[in-house]
Amino acid sequence: MRTIRVAGGCTRCPDLVANRSCIAHGYGAADARVLFIGEAPGYRGADITGVPFTLDRSGVRLQRLLIELGLSDETDPRLATPRLRCFLTNAVRCNPPSNRTPTRAETGNCLPYLWQEIDLVGPRIIVPVGNLAARAVFPHLLDQQAPPITQVHAQVFSKNGRWIVPMRHPARISNADLERFGEVLGALLQQGV
Ligand code: URA
Repeated sequence: MRTIRVAGGCTRCPDLVANRSCIAHGYGAADARVLFIGEAPGYRGADITGVPFTLDRSGVRLQRLLIELGLSDETDPRLATPRLRCFLTNAVRCNPPSNRTPTRAETGNCLPYLWQEIDLVGPRIIVPVGNLAARAVFPHLLDQQAPPITQVHAQVFSKNGRWIVPMRHPARISNADLERFGEVLGALLQQGV
């Protein structure tokens, strides 16, 4: 399992530096086929563990899905450092005060780290999780503005040999939508993408 520290000890965003417990660097299999991008570390989860999508409600829901899809070697979705067959990261790597949404400036400061990380891991499938991640990924990788996540949830976009499969944020997704996403991603994986 690998943590990729492209952000080093970043101090670009004063509010985030003052608030964070740690920087939640990207984490997972170094050559993962699938890379998930969340919004920012949650204060009950990744801000404590330093590992994206762990321990809090969103993290546990996502980890359960990873187990079902064979993208995790664990059986318990509540582990702080799961053995993964995918890579987990966030558009913004520090927890904002009061768990607020990161500002546009904070997101802009952090996104260069994400693009470096994607180059290093080289995933075939990228999953922007939630609106903020989709708004970053669509212009950068698909040359188009992101529609609302509710419109593109579980749809498959493809460009330059890479597949983008947006997902509603696990904090807000219904069980039915989560299941639908699992079916779509599972089918792509079965096709050997
Ligand atoms: N945990 C994360 O790391 N990212 C999110 O977007 C939500 C929870």
